[in-house]
Amino acid sequence: NNNSASVHARSLASAYQLMEQLGTGGFSVVRKAVRKEDGVAVAVKTLDKRGAHGVGDTLELLRNEINVMALIEERIHTPKRHPNVLSLLDVFDEPDYVHLVVDLCEGGELFDRIIGKGKFSEDDAARVVQQIACGLSVLHECQILHRDMKPENLLYDTHEDDATLRIMDFGLSHVAGTDDPMSTQLFGSLDYIAPEVLITRTFSKAADTWSLGVILYILLCGYPPFYGDTQAKCAAIMSGRFDFPKREWNSISSYAKDLIKKLLVLNPSERISADDVLSHPWLMHAPSEQLPDV
Ligand code: ADP
Ligand code: MG
Repeated sequence: NNNSASVHARSLASAYQLMEQLGTGGFSVVRKAVRKEDGVAVAVKTLDKRGAHGVGDTLELLRNEINVMALIEERIHTPKRHPNVLSLLDVFDEPDYVHLVVDLCEGGELFDRIIGKGKFSEDDAARVVQQIACGLSVLHECQILHRDMKPENLLYDTHEDDATLRIMDFGLSHVAGTDDPMSTQLFGSLDYIAPEVLITRTFSKAADTWSLGVILYILLCGYPPFYGDTQAKCAAIMSGRFDFPKREWNSISSYAKDLIKKLLVLNPSERISADDVLSHPWLMHAPSEQLPDV
């Protein structure tokens, strides 16, 4: 009986037609799929449970991702969906696999656009930062810390230059004030880690906005503010010192530099919030306008 089968043993394959692979992560495969019911294209992130134990307990990470995304559905996408945060549409927990059905973002990672372009104009960078700050600000309003903000985890809806950008990959995310099984671990990419996370292993909203500052810096010049081998990079981050080499930064507005300086502040309580970013003059005025020095 088809009806009871769809109720009692609903599998991914019964509801979605799987298509080509879109990408792979540390522990998952992501494929495009079409929802049979209405033909809507989606993305499906799949974890093979057999082999998922032991290796950093990836099943735990995926369960965390599902919990956080379910909370995002409840607190952010209801009643109206937010354009800059990835949505969880469906979950299938099968004997051997867990599948997360999410919004399809066919425009690829911000990371690949940075590689492709080398760097962004101030106008384009401002559009990127505005979208990330907008998504981050609603996440923070709902007490959700992303904890892995980087260009690999920001996806474009389409290949258009002005496509919508979405924050995704909530595997390391955490709800502020709740029990944190990962609290003593260091994770995420070193390039984007805030100094207080390196020093005290404590993570707050401000650590996400530090990462946004690193992303903004990279967007505008094509290289990171803190560099060197692991040890040198850690030391640079913890000192909070970085500079604006003349070659790339001479032609960049002082408003842009001012925003970077307010994001890459050593003391997390003095760092501006994602919400503050949205009202910073660099985003308020079109960066292409000739602005007086600040
Ligand atoms: P992991 O948590 O294992 O890092 P991600 O969720 O980051 O996995 O996904 C791995 C890659 O798959 C992404 O970097 C991206 O290239 C691709 N991908 C993930 N989700 C989507 C999506 N919704 N739409 C299109 N591509 C995606
Ligand atoms: Mg990822």
